[in-house]
Amino acid sequence: SIEIKNLSRKFGSFHALRNVTLSVTAGEFVTLLGPSGSGKSTVLKLLAGFDQPTSGEILLGGRSMLGVMPHLRNVGMVFQNYALFPHMTVFDNIAFPLRVRNEPTVKIEDKVASVLDLTRMNEYRHRYPSELSGGQQQRVALARAIVFDPKVLLMDEPLGALDRHLREQLKFEIKRIQRQFNMTVLFVTHDQDEALVMSDRVVVMREGAIEQEASPHEIYARPVTRFVADFLGESN
Ligand code: ATP
Ligand code: MG
Repeated sequence: SIEIKNLSRKFGSFHALRNVTLSVTAGEFVTLLGPSGSGKSTVLKLLAGFDQPTSGEILLGGRSMLGVMPHLRNVGMVFQNYALFPHMTVFDNIAFPLRVRNEPTVKIEDKVASVLDLTRMNEYRHRYPSELSGGQQQRVALARAIVFDPKVLLMDEPLGALDRHLREQLKFEIKRIQRQFNMTVLFVTHDQDEALVMSDRVVVMREGAIEQEASPHEIYARPVTRFVADFLGESN
């Protein structure tokens, strides 16, 4: 589970996040929506441990993350700017999180093989990232994010750079994997269709605060503010 309590992040006098409180229960898929600059990536960076809150609390699986290093938080991440290592093969990219955890070689071979199957990338295991399409690279990034069996998966516009067809494909792969392993997911997208079909709950953010959170159906049927109605009414 993910628990965020009164989380704030200031940059100088600018409030990127103001008192955000949000819970994501185990196995739930929650999507953050909102205009550019509303604080979506900031939430994910704080959860990942790439940035520190000005105030507030983060608990993952009931454990406080205050002062816990990113690689010890046990969260899988697929961020657009958190690219694959160009000098490593697909296999080595995916194996990396297991190697830094000092897992035994046999276990690494097994686990990497299983996520290569899961993401249907087995035949590309010896390629370098530059020899893959954008969609294939995203599959590898997803494989690398889940190879150490994280309970929590954070994804910041993982499909943003892909064409429509690949996005369609990958969003179902992500759902399939999420359900199969009952992962707790916090997802960021600009694509409302994606949010609608993938999420158990949608959270609309505005200027660093949560404007509304509800099921996809509820939030489209009954937006509580003009802002939410207008935002969801815009085509992407
Ligand atoms: P987008 O949809 O464009 O990705 P976002 O909702 O992810 O937007 P954030 O990246 O969370 O937005 O940024 C929230 C606000 O905080 C923005 O106004 C941004 O300029 C500001 N911000 C983020 N990081 C920093 C930083 N390191 N220093 C100063 N301001 C920052
Ligand atoms: Mg962002």
